[in-house]
Amino acid sequence: MGMFDEIVLPDPWVCPRCGRPERILQTKWFNCELRRFRVGDALDPWTREMIALFPDRIYCMKRMEDGSYCPGEAPVWLTVADGHLVGVHFNYEQAKVALVQALSDVQIITCWTLEKKFAKTLAPIRVVVRCLDDAGFPDELTVAKSYEGEYGLWCPKGWHFVKSAAAFCSEHARTAVLGVKLVNDRGEVDVWGLWNFEVLSIKESELGGES
Ligand SMILES: [Zn+2]
Ligand SMILES: [Zn+2]
Repeated sequence: MGMFDEIVLPDPWVCPRCGRPERILQTKWFNCELRRFRVGDALDPWTREMIALFPDRIYCMKRMEDGSYCPGEAPVWLTVADGHLVGVHFNYEQAKVALVQALSDVQIITCWTLEKKFAKTLAPIRVVVRCLDDAGFPDELTVAKSYEGEYGLWCPKGWHFVKSAAAFCSEHARTAVLGVKLVNDRGEVDVWGLWNFEVLSIKESELGGES
């Protein structure tokens, strides 16, 4: 575990005190695993259902002659939607505009549709998804590859479906996992969180009767 993560700024921030351009922002908002994120990247899984502006600060890293850092700093807002970093802004109004734009993103709407549908029916939903992030397991999922699967709540014991709003399998005394059940690249049945994927389609028959 590190002490922070880094965000690569889309455009450098120029220190108002000394004019030095900074390209990296250190943040402690996420898992602090010394990861480096860019706009568009998937963040830590716990941000998956979050639509938020994280307020942060950027500091100038220029060393002064006495060894201290330049006192230049500025507020910055990190726009997070659907588990992804969708913007970095030095202006609060611009950050809000970016957040509203993110809300109109088709992918986000598709995920919400799926989650709302599942919450209503508590039945598995057949989906086609495209991998956005293999979470560091390239032998199990291939980025940009499409997979057919079922979205739902799965018991980690044999990955059977759990029809329980409490997300608990009482037969095996296990907490169920919400995600897409699919056959991975090693031929194994596995469940992955929706944040790993872009939802390409939700099977029509599963959407019948949608109000
Ligand atoms: Zn400075
Ligand atoms: Zn079970």
